[in-house]
Amino acid sequence: MKRKAYESDHEKNMHISVCLKGGALVSFAVNKNHRHSEVRAIKKARGSQIDTIINLRIKRKSGKIGLSYPCVKCQLAIQEVGIDKIWYSKEDGTFDTYKGYLDPELYGKDG
Ligand SMILES: [Zn+2]
Repeated sequence: MKRKAYESDHEKNMHISVCLKGGALVSFAVNKNHRHSEVRAIKKARGSQIDTIINLRIKRKSGKIGLSYPCVKCQLAIQEVGIDKIWYSKEDGTFDTYKGYLDPELYGKDG
């Protein structure tokens, strides 16, 4: 997942999203051409059922893991296809999860 993130063309933050169904890989995508990885990964799934999405952000400069909480636009896209479990990386390198709600403290981050 980390290695794949380097396919991103974003100058600062490389994002990758992985879509799963029942623990099996459905699709994945990086952020590219100013499009967010979540939206691209969902599109790549081509209507296949997805129950989980995992987000990872890697800072290009330091190689460190960053917060990859989905932005509002992506959260809406995630909800639209019925994904109910979202995992995202945090600054400390761990992952956290939530079930489809908007957290005003965290949303709106770019990437
Ligand atoms: Zn987004």
